[in-house]
Amino acid sequence: MGKATGFLEFERKEPGYRDKDERLKDYRAVENMPDEDDIYDQAARCMDCGIPFCHDYGCPLLNVIPEFNDRVYHGDWACALDILLSTSSFPEFTGRICPAPCEEACVDNLNGDPVTIRQIELAIIEKAFEKGLMKPQPPAFYHDKKVAVIGAGPAGLAAAMMINRAGYRVTVYDEADKPGGLLRYGIPDFKLEKNVVERRIRLMEEEGIVFEQNVQVGTDISIRYLTKHFDAVCLTCGARKPRDLDVPGRNLTGIFFAMDFLTQQNKRISGEPITPSTEINAAGKTVVVIGGGDTGSDCIGTSLRQGATKVIQLEIMPKPPETPSEATPWPLWPNKLRESHAHKEGGTRRWSVNTTACIGENGVLKKIRCEEVAWSNTDGRMTFAPVPGSEFEIETDMVLLAMGFTGPGNEALIEGFGLDTDARGNVKVDGRMMTSVPGIFAGGDMSHGQSLVVTAIHSGKQTARGIIERLSGDTEK
Ligand code: FAD
Repeated sequence: MGKATGFLEFERKEPGYRDKDERLKDYRAVENMPDEDDIYDQAARCMDCGIPFCHDYGCPLLNVIPEFNDRVYHGDWACALDILLSTSSFPEFTGRICPAPCEEACVDNLNGDPVTIRQIELAIIEKAFEKGLMKPQPPAFYHDKKVAVIGAGPAGLAAAMMINRAGYRVTVYDEADKPGGLLRYGIPDFKLEKNVVERRIRLMEEEGIVFEQNVQVGTDISIRYLTKHFDAVCLTCGARKPRDLDVPGRNLTGIFFAMDFLTQQNKRISGEPITPSTEINAAGKTVVVIGGGDTGSDCIGTSLRQGATKVIQLEIMPKPPETPSEATPWPLWPNKLRESHAHKEGGTRRWSVNTTACIGENGVLKKIRCEEVAWSNTDGRMTFAPVPGSEFEIETDMVLLAMGFTGPGNEALIEGFGLDTDARGNVKVDGRMMTSVPGIFAGGDMSHGQSLVVTAIHSGKQTARGIIERLSGDTEK
């Protein structure tokens, strides 16, 4: 694949990020686009490794990575595109924001640096858009059966695209103003500019998919309406129930869920209205972000751009090791310390910190009380205990809760359809992604919990496959 000796000749080279001081002044994408001259050498680094762990172990979509690398190295961009699109629904999204488990599983990563797979993927799809190769692919004809997809996030979009191309008319219903789910209203523009989402939605509309926005299923249209008018329903409503902070003082003014904060900023950028009374803004404030994951990191980048004077991120889990822990050897996704571009922009991070109270004056947040915790492994279960005498306080005007999500929420919809759920509240599905109610399917975060865009796309495709098999009567494959 690529050039047999490429990995010996060329070093890994990334396009890098815009200058920190410059990028903090705007919300535009922070990562530079791959340089075409470099991409050929980078694709050449893909070695003939026998078992491509990147493809069958690293990538949930089973992207045929060595083959598209080979075509890029030979300058055959059209063929590289065909190979990429044979598995990947939206490479323009994953090429920008996927954490790239494929690169962790790359054989080059064993003794050196992995191939820049994500950036090669991005180069292929962006060249295709630039050259006008991304044309709508409507089906040759439509069957007489119709499908309703509820939720226009990456899972719903992937399902809708596949079902429509198989010749079933698709209407996508979504309660938000515009389609995209977390791609549009969660992930900040500095990671994914929204014109990239809009470009794809336009293409899908040209393929024949109908988007009905501002429609909350269960309220604006009934479940009975859906089951009467559609031959199958695909539920891809995400997992949006945020984990709350159960401590005294939680109700003080100045404590917000991360998603409310991030959604507002994305809306501001795209000119969508925000009720002034609910405005959340970090300008001039000391912000504490509780939660050390990606959502927390997005809160840091957004707070700094809004003009926060100080940002502190607190994580209850212990600090991960600088190099992959022995418990997660190659090709597993490694447990190791990660530093996002937002972390490099400013703020401080602390680990093994538990927040025990929020303290205010006249109903307004003034500070939080914290303690350090020590973690231990008891019978395979990680538990923590406060470190005696470690209590401390942080003066703050604003706390953002970014502690993950506890389930799909959407109780009325789930109960309305009469769907079974698992212990975590996720919608239960069988091997064909069908729920406990025949004809109703579910995928994405709604069925497997908060995850990644690439996992949601994979799940959306699996759901589409289940629906197509049911509608075509072909359930034997
Ligand atoms: P969602 O994207 O949540 O979409 C669900 C859709 O359903 C929404 O549009 C919603 O409006 C609609 N809906 C819900 N209920 C109803 C209803 N009753 N009626 C009508 N419509 C309804 N992953 C990555 O890979 N890389 C990242 O960098 C990354 N960053 C992230 C940053 C943040 C802040 C968050 C929160 C997540 C991030 N993720 C990231 C995770 C990723 O965004 C999600 O896993 C993915 O979007 C899930 O896709 P989905 O289609 O299942 O759900």
